[in-house]
Amino acid sequence: MDADDVAATRKLLDERARDALGELIQTRHHLHSHPELSNREVNTSALVAERLRRAGLDEVHTGIAGHGVVGVLRGGRAGDRVAGLRADMDALPVAEASGVEFASTVVDSDYPGGPFPVAHACGHDCHTSTVLGAADVLASVRDDLPGTVMFVFQPAEEGPPIDEAGGAKAMIDAGAFADLRPTMMFGMHVAPLPKGVVGYGIGNQYAASCLVKIEVVGKQVHGSMPWYGIDPMPAVADIISGAGQLYRQVPATDAVTVSIGHVEDVGRFNIIGERVTLWGTIRCLDETSMGTVQDNLRRMAEHHAAAYGASATVDYLQYVPPLANTEEWIDAILPTVKRVIGPDRLVEMPGMLGYDDMSEFTRAFGGAYLNFGTQDTQFAGTSLAPVEGGRGMAMNHSPAFYADDDCLVDSLRIHVQVAFDHLAGEVPA
Ligand SMILES: [Zn+2]
Ligand SMILES: [Zn+2]
Repeated sequence: MDADDVAATRKLLDERARDALGELIQTRHHLHSHPELSNREVNTSALVAERLRRAGLDEVHTGIAGHGVVGVLRGGRAGDRVAGLRADMDALPVAEASGVEFASTVVDSDYPGGPFPVAHACGHDCHTSTVLGAADVLASVRDDLPGTVMFVFQPAEEGPPIDEAGGAKAMIDAGAFADLRPTMMFGMHVAPLPKGVVGYGIGNQYAASCLVKIEVVGKQVHGSMPWYGIDPMPAVADIISGAGQLYRQVPATDAVTVSIGHVEDVGRFNIIGERVTLWGTIRCLDETSMGTVQDNLRRMAEHHAAAYGASATVDYLQYVPPLANTEEWIDAILPTVKRVIGPDRLVEMPGMLGYDDMSEFTRAFGGAYLNFGTQDTQFAGTSLAPVEGGRGMAMNHSPAFYADDDCLVDSLRIHVQVAFDHLAGEVPA
């Protein structure tokens, strides 16, 4: 394409993206009111597939690794590149308290370990509706696209039920990219950054993660006579306290957290139960720390249990590699983002201890993952603070998490322009 054609298509994409905002918000509100937990994205994926077909895509593949959906749009001009845009579709077991009129009241009664209230407390409704909007916008200029765009909707980003596979790796393993391989994968995650600000980082942007399951087993006995049994509770208390010390056993320059978020026991006020199961997560910004932290947590749990005559079994599940943005890909993609939203709204961010299994896609195909601000916040030094008179600041996964609708037009503009610039050769592979 010559420079005039590229400029004309960019202008058209921008106009179409602005026109698409109304429907994007409608879709977002619908998804937000009808959230589904990881690996149960039945209606969400059906809506996605129906909308991709309506957009006139060349191929719509469904049922990938559970409820994954991939749409393929072949452009009218010759080109070898394949730009992948990725959205995650699942919600969280959180009781929503965001105060929006389209807030979720959904309860999933059948989910393992439930019933759970369900809410889009991580903003995946924004991601899904934005990438659907991108499919509409890019399909509307398909004759001008010099290559192919893949729209990748993944299930179970937040982690499937413990006995199930799911997520980005499962989509790759299921052959979602066997016939058509992206030459770039791009996505953004909504975050409590100031509205419309894009956060980027070079190196590990999100941490390596694993799920921790520790089962401490004693011997059940009457609550009034613990000496006739083995009480697992004091071992559990020491393990939870000890988990908070493990960061001191790796170099202080390596960011590590070990958190136990859920304790499941089988006792009652007058029964010392036989077993207690702890569920938690290890996060390491430097992937090489993970093995050390896992070994040390296992050692600590086994020995604390042994000290009380109990036993502990430690399992590490659902490993997700860190999300690394390479300098080459950031250099390639950032000029497009800068052109779309202006240089003042780009902020370099340090790596965070969240995870996102988008890392499986960028590892396999290249590309980058950025953060997108949707809240009434401002920078206070290196951290964030609420803007006075605004809606406040609420972290992802909190009941009050929110994302401002109006911001999403810029997220959509960025998605379509990054995809197009990649196909047009402006974002190198
Ligand atoms: Zn998320
Ligand atoms: Zn999340």
